[in-house]
Amino acid sequence: MNKKKHLDDRFKNFGKISFTSVSKVNDFIGYLEKGKVMGTICKKCGRVFFPPRADCCICLSSDMKWFEVNGKGKLVTYSTLKFAPTGFEDDLPYSIALVDYGQYKVFGKISSTVPDKQLEVGMEMRVKSNQLSNGQLSYVFEKA
Ligand SMILES: [Zn+2]
Repeated sequence: MNKKKHLDDRFKNFGKISFTSVSKVNDFIGYLEKGKVMGTICKKCGRVFFPPRADCCICLSSDMKWFEVNGKGKLVTYSTLKFAPTGFEDDLPYSIALVDYGQYKVFGKISSTVPDKQLEVGMEMRVKSNQLSNGQLSYVFEKA
């Protein structure tokens, strides 16, 4: 029998440059394909994680469930980049942000459709999945 084991390497499709192809949270990519940005919740202790984790760092349980990051979060802080890491030079200038959803915070890029001059700490933002020009999947923040 020649039975090849299928390698689930969906994580290679995440972000402009993916730093790993295989993770224990590959379903994150499947959800992005469906337009959903998801985190995980530990079923044992209730801790909420974003980015999603497959294992709880509080109680060490691996019994997790997925939840969708939706609704409005508040912009905690942001920064407009004049220099970028390797591979992101063509995107300059762009802004990165931390958005507070209450039980968890989400770090990511602000959509280029939101002008810098409209950014204000405390403003409400939403996260949205998106597809980059090279076909990779990611997510961005937009005004809520
Ligand atoms: Zn836990």
